[in-house]
This record gives sequence, C-alpha cells and structure tokens, in this order.
Amino acid sequence: MAKQTVVGCERCARFGRLGYRLDTDRGQDNPTGRVVACECARELCTCGALHAPAFAPAPPYEQLPERAAAAEDETACICWRVRRHVATLNRLLRDAGIPNLYRGKLREDYHVRYPEGQVIPDAESARGQAVTWLETAVKEPTGKSLFLYGVPGDGKTLLASAFLTEIILLTRKSGLFVNLSRGYFQRLRNTYEDEPSIETTDQVFNRLTRVPFLVLDDIGVERGSAWEVEWLYNLIDARYQNQNRLIVTSNNSLEELNVLSHGRISSRLRHACMVVRLPDVDLRERFRYGA
Ligand SMILES: [Zn+2]
Ligand SMILES: [Zn+2]
Repeated sequence: MAKQTVVGCERCARFGRLGYRLDTDRGQDNPTGRVVACECARELCTCGALHAPAFAPAPPYEQLPERAAAAEDETACICWRVRRHVATLNRLLRDAGIPNLYRGKLREDYHVRYPEGQVIPDAESARGQAVTWLETAVKEPTGKSLFLYGVPGDGKTLLASAFLTEIILLTRKSGLFVNLSRGYFQRLRNTYEDEPSIETTDQVFNRLTRVPFLVLDDIGVERGSAWEVEWLYNLIDARYQNQNRLIVTSNNSLEELNVLSHGRISSRLRHACMVVRLPDVDLRERFRYGA
C-alpha cells in the first residue's frame, strides 16, 4: 500500500498545505498560540490519534516514540508525519524566545487601518515591502537581512515577531528572538563572570551566529559599553559574512546609529539589510503593540 499524503486545505494553505496550522484562537488553554493538526489531516487519520478535539502534543514535546518504526512502515497512518511536524514546530516556537505578547502573531496582526477603519498612512506599503523580504527569506535561507525602524510603539517588534513565527512555521528551521535591553547584556556578563558552568559568552555568541534566523530587537544609540558594542558588531558582522538572515528593529535610523562603534555597525547593516521605515504613529494604546 502506498503511503498516503495530506493534500491540505484552505485552512492550512498558508502553512504549506501540510496538514497543520497555527491556532491563534487564544484562550485559557492556548494563551500564546500553538500549532495544531489541521481539520483536513484529522479527517484522513485512520488510527484515531488525531480524533481528539484539539490535538496538540503537550510539553515537553518529546520525539514521538513511534517515529523510527513509522518512517519505515508504508502502512503507517497519514497522521504520523503531521504529528511529528506539530511537535517539532511547537518546540521550535517555544524555544525561539518570542515574548508572550507577540507569540502566535502573524503578518496581518500588524494593522494597516485604525480600529475605526481609516487607513494608517504608509502602513500598507511598509508592510508590503517587509513582506516581500519575508517571502524571499522563506524560500532562500540565506541572503539579505531586514532593518525595521520607526518611533516607539509603531509595531516593529510585533512585525519582527510575526515574521519569525511565519519563517519557523514555513521552513521548520530554528529561530531566536533577542531583546537587546540593558538586562540582556548584564545577564550575558554575569554568565561569563559568575556562572561559567551555564553558557559562556562565546557559546552564546556562537549560538546567535549560527541559528538560521535571528531577531535583534531594539538596537539603540543610547546604550552600550565599548564591550557591548563590540560584541554586537562582531555578531552582526559574523552573520553578514555567512549571509545568515537577521531582522533588526530600532527606534533609530541607520544614520542615527552611526555614532555606534565609529559607524561600523550602521555600515554593516546598510550593506546587509533591506531597510523599511514604519509609519510615525504610536499605536500602543490601540493595538497592544507593546513597548
Ligand atoms: Zn488543512
Ligand atoms: Zn492517525
């Protein structure tokens, strides 16, 4: 008997028609959005594993025990592959470090209209430019990076998080979200100085250099000891050399970032990135866009 394949349906079309989709219906049991088996896969499942009403493997998303056997078995139920993807994707999304406020968000959660319906000037074209980058990044794992900037509260962190979520869902590769707050560097240094047994700064650096997709949230001009700025430059440069995709958000333009590291950071970003300026509107109060 030939192995069945999921043909997909409209509900999972945007996630590659592979029989899984993102469940953004947030409730008490789904506060951050999660990947679930799509209805089309549940209908085709003959073994019963997908017949529970809201199938989603519970943490810690262990490998499915029957994986090795099913890979060899031509008669294995269609749901085996779907369940494996669901488990992998929920683990990748959990490990990506996206803040809870932005988890389970997709590109359309960056709004181009106010709640009352009027158009937000330039929002649609900015999102369109950024989406062009996203669609290329999904198809080709290496290449240009993306620099999103604008005033605080304009939705750049939400957009970057949504893009990271979509990239993970469509490529099934890992990604990381890093907020470059003072606290981040503080913890990085503490790790180095006090708790070498956990992860050294070099190990963190290597992890951030190698991860297929990285978001560096909130690069700014106002912070940064010489050590921090050097660390940041080396990270951006290493990813640039390897053409590893990066999304950077900032409240500052590249011109303003010129003061960092004698202009080396902004110069690297200028070469590495497609630059998108988001509209100058603070939408925090309207859309829960966060800081
Ligand atoms: Zn489907
Ligand atoms: Zn099944």
